[in-house]
Amino acid sequence: MNYHSLKNPELKASFSEALLSSLAPDGGLYMPDSLPRFGDNELARLGAMSFWACAAHLSRFFVDDKFSDEDLQGLCADAYDFPLSLTTMDGELLDAATPEPADAYILELFHGPTLAFKDFAARFMGRTVSHLLSRSGDSRTILVATSGDTGGAIGHAFLNLPGVRVFILYPNGGVSSVQEHQLTSFGEMGGNKSNVKAIAVDGTFDDCQALVKQAFADSKMSAEHNLMSANSINVGRVIPQSFYYFWTSLQIKAAFPNRPIVYSIPSGNLGNLTGGLIARKMGAPIDKFVVGNNTNDPFVDYLNTGEYTPRPSVPTLSNAMDIGRPNNFPRILSLFDGDYERITQVCSGYSYSDAQTERHLRRTYAHEKYLMCPHTAVGHMAMQDFAAKTDKDYTKITVSTAHPAKFKDEVEQIIREDIPLPRSLQNCIDAPSHKHVMEPSLSDLDDYIRKNT
Ligand SMILES: *Cc1c(COP(=O)(O)O)cnc(C)c1O
Repeated sequence: MNYHSLKNPELKASFSEALLSSLAPDGGLYMPDSLPRFGDNELARLGAMSFWACAAHLSRFFVDDKFSDEDLQGLCADAYDFPLSLTTMDGELLDAATPEPADAYILELFHGPTLAFKDFAARFMGRTVSHLLSRSGDSRTILVATSGDTGGAIGHAFLNLPGVRVFILYPNGGVSSVQEHQLTSFGEMGGNKSNVKAIAVDGTFDDCQALVKQAFADSKMSAEHNLMSANSINVGRVIPQSFYYFWTSLQIKAAFPNRPIVYSIPSGNLGNLTGGLIARKMGAPIDKFVVGNNTNDPFVDYLNTGEYTPRPSVPTLSNAMDIGRPNNFPRILSLFDGDYERITQVCSGYSYSDAQTERHLRRTYAHEKYLMCPHTAVGHMAMQDFAAKTDKDYTKITVSTAHPAKFKDEVEQIIREDIPLPRSLQNCIDAPSHKHVMEPSLSDLDDYIRKNT
């Protein structure tokens, strides 16, 4: 399959080229030229596979001949060695043999090594990039701007991979303390020689993202360091996020064949939603998507009014969604040929203040004994608001994007109880960390990369 630039469909690239260059030469986002569309028999066959095998099968359609079927199987089996769980708030797992279908599930995507759904994409991307670089002997410098979770997932997925250096830019004071520990301890794991370095930028997430964009736009810097992006502008981040929608919707359909399916996704840059929409286009039995935004809600505004107005982001409790200009918006438009009516037939959106998020998180913990992270709480509220407005009998899946302990201080303040840290996070907290603080300056960034290459 080929990819094209959304700014100019004549500008083509293979998967490997799109992955390693991130953006098209005209600055456009890459998008697949076409998507496979699976019929009922093939859907049944794919749904009967394990998740990683289904992912390997699907990825065949998105990559090029630099990957054999065996490569893809090995890569997916290795990347997806952790569970993906569909559970009710009472802890009942989805099971095709359940006589009484529950009407609501949480899709917990946070059981990977960095406890956020970003692991699904980062681990696929790390392994595909490493596969290509080890064959060509090339190298890349990855710049990634993060509001917290992307940096952790990318750092973990690329740690110690030959041919790659990773510089993670995060807003100083703008991520949770657990996230900061995670980001700043990579450098220490491999000693000073570690290939992953975190930079605390004195500014907001938007400043981090702007700095990364400036670095890419600077042709000298970009060429000298062989820069590559691991943000969701890169198709390598978006494609694997279709796999879990595809596979889980088939499990749900097998259990409750007569009920339509809706997913609610807490959203920021809209990469996760783009993955879901791609899965739906490939034939996954998904009726609708609900989008939850915090007060940074240009996409929800667009769904409700037809007007798209990007704006500067403001900090909220659900910091991974503090995005004022979601970078996958053009991809979503392209999936619907820019047709607003069709987009709103599939997607509905709601947005929430921090006060609402806090109250919801506290209530679901008190009444249902289910603790969610602030992002998941936003998605869960959106699902409830959607459900209240429809009389269709949906199976409702709220996508849980991070483990609550990643936001330990914030969540503990809300529920006024201590929450235990899972072992992987405790290990980060215990590991030595080093914080490099920097002004949002391109020449300082250039110097720092040079000194650490
Ligand atoms: C990244 C992230 C989101 C937002 O996902 P997008 O793909 O940017 O829309 C939501 N929740 C958490 C916990 C995240 O890390």
